[in-house]
Amino acid sequence: MPSHLTIAIDGPVASGKTVVGRAVARRLGIRFLDTGTMYRAFAWATLRRGIDPKDGSALAKLAKTLDMRLEGGSDGQRLLVDGEDTASHLRERDVEQAVSLVAAVSVVRAAMVALQRKVALEGPLVMVGRDIGTVVLKDATLKVFLKASREVRATRRHEEQKTHGKEVNYDEVLAGLALRDKIDTERADSPLRPAEDAVEVDTDSLTVDQVVQRILELLKHR
Ligand code: C5P
Repeated sequence: MPSHLTIAIDGPVASGKTVVGRAVARRLGIRFLDTGTMYRAFAWATLRRGIDPKDGSALAKLAKTLDMRLEGGSDGQRLLVDGEDTASHLRERDVEQAVSLVAAVSVVRAAMVALQRKVALEGPLVMVGRDIGTVVLKDATLKVFLKASREVRATRRHEEQKTHGKEVNYDEVLAGLALRDKIDTERADSPLRPAEDAVEVDTDSLTVDQVVQRILELLKHR
């Protein structure tokens, strides 16, 4: 386990983890790793190979052989799969639908967690995901669990998709989010839940800046 500064931020879909985590990392001048992108890239690789996201043994085989690497600087790392930048694929609809299924498979998680811990050993960082405080960085300097109501999260995600020019309706976003919440919280391996020593922050009525401030405040007392 790293002895330098590590901040673990967990929470459900659209709880604000990524935007908050990136801002905290920038304020502190340390690295940022969004682990959701790794599960998304794995899901994309699965689909590209024509593997059924429910085929556990094919997923296990892929988890052992897939060439996944992180490359780059302080903020925008590139996540490469088989040498190819995955960034433009990670928000595709079929990736979004498959990601929680592949993320529930233990061998897939083991491969992702190993890579995440390796990155954490390289220096101070903020890492965001679902199991960072409970599994990946159990000894993190600070653990934060972001909460927000499902409706607020769906509204945020819907707005975000509209600004990216995607034609989606709110009910579809809400249903997709509810399904991912269900799979993420009910899976046997590393279900989404706050670590016992995590500070829970309800973001429903807070701005991104206010959440960032709160985290920086909490850090002062560690
Ligand atoms: O955070 P994001 O929405 O990009 O994550 C996509 C999916 O990846 C989640 O719904 C979850 O199934 C999975 N995930 C996970 N553990 C993490 C990060 C993401 O299981 N640490």
